[in-house]
Order: sequence, then structure tokens, then C-alpha cells
Amino acid sequence: MTTGSLNTEAGTDPAEERGLVAALTVAEKVLLLTGADSWRTQGAKALGLRPMTTSDGPAGVRGVIKDERSPSSSLPCPSALGATWDIGLVHELAAALGAEARSKGVDILLGPTINLMRTPLGGRGFECFAEDPVLTAEIAVAYVTGVQEAGVATTVKHYVGNDSETNRWNYDARIAERVLRELYLIPFEASVRDAGTLLVMAAYNKVNGLPMTEHESLLKDVLKGEWGFDGVVTSDWHAARSTAATALAALDLAMPGPDGPWGESLARAVADGAVRPEVLDDKILRLLRVARKVGAMGGNADAPAGPARPELIDPRLLRRATAASFVLLRNEQEALPIRPDGVSSLALLGPNAFQPTIQGGGSAGVVPVSVSTPEQALRDALGGQAVITTAAGCQTWMMVPEPPPGSLRDPDTAEPGLRLEFRAADGTLLASEHRTSTSLAWWDGVPPGIGWGESGRIVLLASFRADSSGPYLIGAAGVGRLTLAVDGSTVADELTSVPADPVEAMTRPGEVRAAVTLEAGRATQIRLEFRPATDGEGPLAVRLGIAPDVDEDSMLAEAVQAAGQADAAIVVVGSAAMTESEGFDRSTLTLPGRQDELVSRVAAVNSRTVVVVNAGMPVLMPWAGDVAAVLYAWLPGQAMGEALADVLLGHAEPGGRLPVSMPAREADCPVLYAVPRGGQLCYDEGLLIGYRGYDAAGVAPHYPFGHGLGYTSWAYESLHAPQGNLARGLRGRAARR
Ligand code: BGC
Repeated sequence: MTTGSLNTEAGTDPAEERGLVAALTVAEKVLLLTGADSWRTQGAKALGLRPMTTSDGPAGVRGVIKDERSPSSSLPCPSALGATWDIGLVHELAAALGAEARSKGVDILLGPTINLMRTPLGGRGFECFAEDPVLTAEIAVAYVTGVQEAGVATTVKHYVGNDSETNRWNYDARIAERVLRELYLIPFEASVRDAGTLLVMAAYNKVNGLPMTEHESLLKDVLKGEWGFDGVVTSDWHAARSTAATALAALDLAMPGPDGPWGESLARAVADGAVRPEVLDDKILRLLRVARKVGAMGGNADAPAGPARPELIDPRLLRRATAASFVLLRNEQEALPIRPDGVSSLALLGPNAFQPTIQGGGSAGVVPVSVSTPEQALRDALGGQAVITTAAGCQTWMMVPEPPPGSLRDPDTAEPGLRLEFRAADGTLLASEHRTSTSLAWWDGVPPGIGWGESGRIVLLASFRADSSGPYLIGAAGVGRLTLAVDGSTVADELTSVPADPVEAMTRPGEVRAAVTLEAGRATQIRLEFRPATDGEGPLAVRLGIAPDVDEDSMLAEAVQAAGQADAAIVVVGSAAMTESEGFDRSTLTLPGRQDELVSRVAAVNSRTVVVVNAGMPVLMPWAGDVAAVLYAWLPGQAMGEALADVLLGHAEPGGRLPVSMPAREADCPVLYAVPRGGQLCYDEGLLIGYRGYDAAGVAPHYPFGHGLGYTSWAYESLHAPQGNLARGLRGRAARR
């Protein structure tokens, strides 16, 4: 046997490869078709195949752990990429993302998400590129092409009808065939036909009565038949819930593993004659095709390529791309750009100026390499040219914010950060380490080798020094029992509820709070003991928050006073950390907390009020007509502050145009329905989503799809419509690969 001959496309002998696969035993075959663990596929010595590593995207590549010691570049969220309308830029960014993935030992990126923004309430809307299928398809082709050129496979997801999060594991999306063909399938078809995506992810939900992992007509007939897809259809994580039906409907890989509905059950289905052996061979040949493209053939079958040195994305590229995504919705009397010589005092207000929401929640989240906040970046950019007064104005958090870096010390080493301990049920110390983050997560449960046993505990220990004396809130979040002690006395001891969707253990676990009074500068000993309800199974997360318990009326009054005394006010409002996420939908488009009141009151005292909206999807902006300028900044990733300073001060053009219609009122949205009724999500609006819906209803959106101002004046002189489509260059390149 010559395994080396499978290693390159040119050297592949298809007959030999088919022979090798056919010669495997059924047990060996089924082993290959389920993940080896949460993120890796199985290797096979006989085929010269090493395990392949998958990792979530799409706004960064997380790697197999979520840990502050292994950070990732954090990109503008996909709706921001859609807002660039710039396939060249998206391609460049995606190629850099692919290089980072490659350098981290990642073979398969679990992205991009190419569902459409059917309703602005959809929890994962920020992960989509646009409400329009063609714009989504164009950006998707650029993204897929860029990542795959770096030698990393993409997984376009979630095929299809995964447009809501509520009950996402089970709802039945009722979508007419014409609507599928003209809207929701378009980006998938383009990613397959024009960009050659190597994987497609089958969604959790049903479409017209059948789970997507069992959907013979959409998987076998349309995807593999009509579009000629020759890559791998992977399940979304745990989405495969049957044996023969999924295998026959053309699902190729059940993720994660090592357990799942295939394995021995699939071998039995073959023995019983329910599934023909060639069905398994076809799936393996598809896996080998992916493996060959990502360089997983002919190497060491036992281990994936280890990460060398992470090749993070050039921060200058992130900064440029972020500025290119910002959309200037309104700019009266050239309020923007701000010329430093025209402004001697500036009030920087709003909760997101200090704690920006750079990314949405869920599997798309990464631990960013760094975060450039608007406050820091504007201070740096203005370099003392203007007096800056700051005030958050209100609070929007749903969980007590994490304490500022440097305010906590590890009681064992006195280093900044905290001590993390794993303890057995009887209190025996199993493992202990220093950590710098107060938000810890383990997708795969308690790390191996801890010796957790049953009913173990996770303990966080820290010494906290308050900046100012007064009332504070301490919050402990996690799914399970949380016991908080301050200076040796228990201040809270409660059980939080188990969420419907396991991912919520990470995105919005229950929180237990205690109110305490702290003295400035004095070290307070904090101990949080967490007994996970899952007994250590993933996804698992625990979080400690500490924040002054302030009176919001005074916060608002302080901000309004600062605005009244400044030449100009910049108010950064938007989503809070848990407003937009995988696992749940939004129930309102209103900004969280008292942010609308903050903007209105600031605008009433300062005619040069510039509002920056930090949200991944549309929000209501009832004050928009009363302020001088509105800049939409999306969930911009780690470069937020620097890019914002560039745009606000006129060093960069706000290059974005809306990829989604912005409603004036909730009732104007063509689809304001993200929650299934009776288990069904009926796409009764047919083709009329987004701008098509507004047009059909004769309703004007607040800001239409495609809207966006700039810093220049211009006029149409002539119009020329080139033949073909924008992405032809990229498509040609993909086709030639
Ligand atoms: C999400 C996918 C993600 C997978 C692995 C699922 O819950 O729907 O988008 O790739 O988890 O994290």
C-alpha cells in the first residue's frame, strides 16, 4: 500500500483510493464517520489520514479551547462584513483568517454563517452577512475563497432555514420551494458552485417536516445532485439524531464524537441491509477529498498538525476593515468628521464607550487578543488637543460586569488575576492554576486529567481592591450551585436553573448576586464555589462580576451635565454583552436599559451630539432626528476604538452601506416573528423579507438597505452597468483551483 500517493490531488489514483476504502472493515468505516472528540475527526493509518481539527468562526478562529492564554484575532462581525459590500476586502480578511487558522492547527473552519437576516429579532442575525441573498452570496464567495486559499476548509452553515434561535433544535421551518430557491438556498448554491466550499453544515431544525440532517431532497437531490457538491456534509453539533435516516439522506459526518447515533448502530444498519456499504464508502471518499485539500493525508495518522506560532491577523488590516464597515446614517451640517481644531471640549458618553460589545455571544465568540475601547482610542487620537469628559450615563448589563483588570490578585501568588481550583466532592484539591480572566469556559467540560470524579467543584479565589468606598454588587454566574463568600462569610448560596439550550451555559447562565459595602483600597477576599449542574460535562462556564452599585438617575444627570458643558458630545450606545447571541432571539429592537433616554437628554442640551450605535443588527433609534449624526458601528471586533477614532476624526471614510433595512418602528418590520408557534416557524411572508417587504407594504424604513453617507460630496454623471456579477474575478479563481 502506498499512502503517499493519496497526498496530492495530482498524485491521487481514484481507483486505488476507492480500493483502499472498500478494503476497510465496516467497524473501521463507521469509526471515521463520527468525530473523535468535540472538535476532531478520526484518523486512519491504512489511509494515511490524520485527524482533522475543526474550530468555530466566523468572526475569528477560536481554536479548540476558549482561554485567555490562547487569544484570537477578533474580526468585525459578519453583518459588518456585509456592510462593506467589498468582496476584495472580505477576501483579504478571510485569507488572513485562514492563515491564522492554519497556524493554530485548524483544518476546518466552522463558518461562514450564510443564513439570511429574515427578521431583525433573530439572535444570530449578527452572524449573517445581509438580508439580501445576492449580497450574502457575493460576500460568502469572497470569504470561502479567501479562507480556502489559505489551505483551510470552510463549512458554510446552517443549511438551511436556521433563521431563529428559539427552540432551534426542533422547530419546523415551513418554507415554500420557490422561497427556498429564490432566497435561502442562493448563498449555499453560490458557495458550492462558485467558491467550492469543502463542507456544508446541516442545521438542527426541520424544513417542511424533516430534520435537515435527514433531508434527502435538500441534501442528496439539491446539494449533492443538482449543485454537484462533492465535499462533506457535517451535522451541526449533536444535530444528527437518527442512524439510517441521516446516513441515507446523505449526511457524511456526525459531529461531535466519539458517541453519537452512528458508530455501532450504523454498523448494525449495514449488517441488517438498511444501509448499503457503498453509502459509507462515498462518505469516506468525501472526507478524504477534504483531507487532501487541507494537507491531512500522508502524515502521522495519530495526531493533527500541532500549532506552530499563531499567526494573528495584522491589526492594521482589522482596523481598516472595521472602518470600512461603519455606516454613516445621518450627518447634519457636517457634524462629522470632528476637526480637533474646532472642538476644545468633548463629552464622551454612553455605556459602550467604556465597555463596548465587540462580538456577539455563542460559538462565534473568541477571546480577543486585545480590545481597543472608544474611550482609550479617542484619548490617544486627540492626544490632549481637546478636554475629554467621560460618563457612562446608564447601565445596560444583565450580569454584573467583570472587575477591571488589575483590581484582582491571586491570593497564592499576588499576581494580577485569580486562582482557579478544581476540588473533589470531599474538598480534596485536584488541580490549581493562576488565571487572568474572571470569565472561564470549557466547551468540553472539565479538562481531562483533573480526576474530577463525581460532584466536583470549581473554586475561584481572589483578593479585590475597590477604587472607591460604597455599595458594590458581586455576581457569580454558572449553571449549578453557586456559593459566594466575602472575607470568609457566605453572602449568597443558590442554585441557578438549567437552560433549555446547553449553549446558554456559556451565553447567559443564571447569576447569583450579593450586595456588599466595600472600603476603598482595602483587600477583600472573595471565594466563589461552583458545583456545575452538568457534573463537569460541557459546555461549562463560570463567571465572577464585581461592580459599584450606582444610582442610575445620578449617572444620567452626570452625563447630561457633561454634555451641556462640552463643544460636542459623542454617545456610544448599543447592545450589552448578552443582547445578541446564539441560543436565544431578541424580544425587542429597543436599546437595552435607559440608553434612549440618555441620548434624548444629551441631544436636548448639545446640538452637536454624535451617536455611535454598537449593535450587530437593527435597533430602534427614536432620537435619530434630534441628533447631529448617527454612525452604525456593528459588533466591530477588537479594533473598534481605533477604527472609530479614525472615522470620527476623518482619518478614514465610513465606508459601509446598510446590508439590512433599519425600521422606524417594530411594527414596520416585514417579519417580526422569531419564535416558533406550535413548533412551527411559518415563512408566510414568502419572498417579502427585508427591503422587498417594505416595498410591498409601501412602508418606508427608517434607513433603507444600501443607505450610507460619506465625507465627500458627489453627483451621478453617468451610469454604466457591467455584464455579469461583481465576484466574477474571485469565482474564476475558485473555479481554476
Ligand atoms: C452551532 C454551530 C457551531 C457548533 C460548534 C452549534 O451549536 O449552531 O454554529 O459551529 O455549535 O460550536
